[in-house]
Amino acid sequence: QPITTDMATLTREVKKFATDKKLEIETLKIREEYRREFLGNVSHELKTPLFTVQGYLSTLLDGAMNDKSIRKKYLERAEKGVERLIYIVQDLDMISKLEIGVLHLEVAPFDIVKLIQSVFDLLELKASKKDILLMFDMKYNKPIMVIGDQEKIRQVLINLIVNSIKYGINEGSTELSIEDLTEDKVLIRITDNGEGIEKQNISRLFERFYRVDKSGARTEGGSGLGLSIVKHIIEAHNEKIYVESRFGFGSEFSFTLEKAQKKMDEKAL
Ligand code: ADP
Repeated sequence: QPITTDMATLTREVKKFATDKKLEIETLKIREEYRREFLGNVSHELKTPLFTVQGYLSTLLDGAMNDKSIRKKYLERAEKGVERLIYIVQDLDMISKLEIGVLHLEVAPFDIVKLIQSVFDLLELKASKKDILLMFDMKYNKPIMVIGDQEKIRQVLINLIVNSIKYGINEGSTELSIEDLTEDKVLIRITDNGEGIEKQNISRLFERFYRVDKSGARTEGGSGLGLSIVKHIIEAHNEKIYVESRFGFGSEFSFTLEKAQKKMDEKAL
């Protein structure tokens, strides 16, 4: 590096160095605040189900165990609490991996129609408990090949469809559709006629731990991480996610995926 003797250049460089350092410190401060808030949220999320499990187990030990029907009921509830803890920990694990960028995407062509059908099979029982109809047009009877990490996209579909069931009304419906967006992109749409989301809450939906109705969501066993995971996965694919909703009428989440056809054509050239 040549030694700068020009005073003006030197002053400029010193100033730039100072500004860079200041920015670096600001970034570190924000990160630290983020970390602290994250830890606070995590312990808060874990506390509720842990206390629930503890409550049922102590009641059982205090004598409720002797009553056969209560015993079964309380053990089942304790098990539900543990199940919820497992989901939260799995979500946290996924989110931290996505956020520090160590989660490796295994990108390959796959049939999105088949994937949607398998997710429907998985969630049919859950939907039927609320008499919610899962609909996927019969016109999709041939493969539509897209590119992405199939297992991560499965997670995206599960999270979005589970939400449409959780926040759906009894005897409602969830409809999936695939449409051509551009020459090389498709749009996957998940539409429900559930409770909908108020305008002022829409911009915060994808924040981790964010829930519109804390008390309501809690009975549904959500951790507020589902949509945050969805957004991370879609963005890791360099794709986009959209949400539209009318409070009291329903919501529509949609995301883009790259068609496999174009890539294959390019390879063939
Ligand atoms: P949760 O674990 O609470 O479901 P999510 O991150 O998946 O967390 O969703 C965040 C919040 O967004 C939910 O608590 C709910 O209030 C709202 N939400 C998500 N999907 C829908 C939907 N399909 N209809 C209405 N509200 C929804």
